[in-house]
Amino acid sequence: MGKEKLKILLVDDDEDDYIITQDLLSEIRMRKFDLSWEKSYENALKVLSVNQFDLCLFDYRLGAKTGLDLLQEVVKIGYKGPIIILTGQDDQEIDKEVMKAGASDYLVKGQINSSLFERSIRHALERKRAEEALVASKDYAENLINSSIDMIVATNTDRLITEFNPAAQKVFGYNKYDVLYKPFHFLFANPNEWLQISKKIEQEKVFSGEVIKKKKTGETFHSYLSASVLRDLKGEEVGIIGISRDITVQKRLEAQLLYNAFHDSLTGLPNRKLFMNHLEKVIACAQTNKGFLFAVLFLDIDRFKVINDSLGHAIGDKLLISIAERLKECLRHNDIVARFGGDEFVILLNDIREKSCAKVIAEKILKSLKEPFYLNGHSVFTGTSIGIVLSEEYYDRPEDILRDADTVMYRAKMNGRSNYAMFDKKMHAHAVKALQLEADLQKAIVNNEFKMYYQPIVSLVDGNIIGVESLLRWEHPQSGLISPAEFIPLAEETGMIEPIGRWVIKEALSQNKVWLDAGYSNTSLSVNVSARQFRSRNLPEVIQRILEETGMNSKAFDLEITESSVMEDMDRGIKTLEELSGMGIKIMLDDFGTGFSSINNLRFLPVSGIKIDLSLTKDVAISPGAATIAKAIIQMAHGLNKKVVAEGVETEAQLEFLRSHNCDMAQGYLFGKPMPANELVKVLQKNNTAHRVLSNKKFSPSNTSLQKSFANSFAT
Ligand code: C2E
Ligand code: CA
Ligand code: CA
Repeated sequence: MGKEKLKILLVDDDEDDYIITQDLLSEIRMRKFDLSWEKSYENALKVLSVNQFDLCLFDYRLGAKTGLDLLQEVVKIGYKGPIIILTGQDDQEIDKEVMKAGASDYLVKGQINSSLFERSIRHALERKRAEEALVASKDYAENLINSSIDMIVATNTDRLITEFNPAAQKVFGYNKYDVLYKPFHFLFANPNEWLQISKKIEQEKVFSGEVIKKKKTGETFHSYLSASVLRDLKGEEVGIIGISRDITVQKRLEAQLLYNAFHDSLTGLPNRKLFMNHLEKVIACAQTNKGFLFAVLFLDIDRFKVINDSLGHAIGDKLLISIAERLKECLRHNDIVARFGGDEFVILLNDIREKSCAKVIAEKILKSLKEPFYLNGHSVFTGTSIGIVLSEEYYDRPEDILRDADTVMYRAKMNGRSNYAMFDKKMHAHAVKALQLEADLQKAIVNNEFKMYYQPIVSLVDGNIIGVESLLRWEHPQSGLISPAEFIPLAEETGMIEPIGRWVIKEALSQNKVWLDAGYSNTSLSVNVSARQFRSRNLPEVIQRILEETGMNSKAFDLEITESSVMEDMDRGIKTLEELSGMGIKIMLDDFGTGFSSINNLRFLPVSGIKIDLSLTKDVAISPGAATIAKAIIQMAHGLNKKVVAEGVETEAQLEFLRSHNCDMAQGYLFGKPMPANELVKVLQKNNTAHRVLSNKKFSPSNTSLQKSFANSFAT
């Protein structure tokens, strides 16, 4: 017992009993008491309604009333402490009755001693405290359940609902009494789902996971349920308790995020990722099912950039949305149209009957997109270029199909706008080969697979070799010699041309130094420069550095550049040319006479000459038209003070024609094929001897025997 004085109220009409009680209490050492005494039932009620007592002692007999009456009455007015009933006689019936009514003890006055009294008081207080604690914890639990934002539903062992908290009531729309003693599955959208969960709980005692529940309105919702077996204090199973939370909003958000990850936000169409997923599936389907055909259409909107830049992004966006709509209209519901960003749309024609279906749909799309779009008061005209790839057994990766569709779309674009083109097997084989070549090209420099070949260039005035053109060769370890016509364009495309070009210039210049040092001082060296190489800002610098490294003089150094690579960006092209000729490098326009050539450009380009393309040379002796053109080119070039070299001279007749029209130089198999440096040096030696012989005689077109000996002198 604690240290504080315990406030006790004795209600007894007998003063002697009060005194006895006081004596008994004073004998108890462990605790001090503050005893109040009331004689009557009525006074007791009055006192108790205003004062607090820790314990009450009620005499059983209180005039007309009993202690039991008083007990019942004081509980009503809110007294919560323990009550001990005192009586004159031991009466078992009364004992039972008062104890049942909530009394803490029933003591017979004559038999009370201080220790008995102390124990009775102590027990009464302890029991009361325990009861209070129990009530408090029950209140607490109830409070928890009622104020929980989670739905709490409990059942008994028959799985009938026994608890349904306010949060549950709010979400489900039922009040507690609608659902009490209804089976738990009553709350599930699918009662079977609950059956499975309940089995799981029986086996594993717990369950947690997402479930779909049903509201009173019939509306279903996602919730996250944690359920476990509910036990009483003794550990007996008494039911199940389920705590759950409505996760509809969260689910919606997740679904939105998932949707966003796979769709284009502007048009709402599937994006690249989703498209690739679909494509992967149809590829798998085509591989197992021989009759299954599909097609991929790659679309690029004609003039989109112009429209977007001139009419503004808002209209550009509207146009894309309208295009998406039209595309959908052209397709069946199981086809897929996706936007890959920008103005790229890609279509999957799923399970087509025959290959021609793809063409039919492409034509339908072309027609539909040709119709004007009315956007914010503007009529906008556009169109599309479509590349088509059909399913083939050699495709097993979606990226490959897209790559080919993209490639063939460009081909369609090149054929003029609003066109489609179909990827075929030949193109595929080519693409595969190019890919392999590209991979090999990466290794070619490091593996020393490049060789320089040299072809003599001959003066048509005196028959001397006055130059050599360096021509690149690739000795591929498996495929053998590969023509530059095959790998240079690829090197251009991949950017590899820059390191390769540097290697070429350096190699050729070093070789030329060897020849010059050996005394062949009349030969200049021509090196080919491709368009991309020419465009790269630092070509003059790169050459300067190599000249310094090789110790070469730029005077004996020509560059061969095509006219188109200069004209791509004329201002810059001319600047670069000026820079190069400022360094003393002579420039020849390569492939002249192949359609792109313009005598007019020649007027202002700072070049020292032109090379007549071999396609023209080939025809000069057999086609009067070609002859006329070649003649005119030579005359006009001379009129502009430019030298003329004819390439690809193979026959005497060609040589005859060129010489008679005063072409300055020639190059071709007639004089020598491109050859390795060690072979060329032999030709240079012979040339020196031949030259000595020839220079004594007149080198004229009419002297055919001399021509022969001249030509023979280069034969290897
Ligand atoms: P190109 O500059 O027009 O070179 C002339 C091409 O004609 C060379 O082909 C040469 O071997 C070939 N040819 C020479 N004489 C005759 C002949 O009498 N008859 C026939 N039918 N052909 C003859 P090649 O060596 O296969 O080179 C092809 C093209 O590759 C070159 O055309 C040039 O544009 C490019 N190229 C070659 N080497 C290099 C290089 O080192 N760098 C760059 N950027 N391009 C190069
Ligand atoms: Ca050339
Ligand atoms: Ca050429």
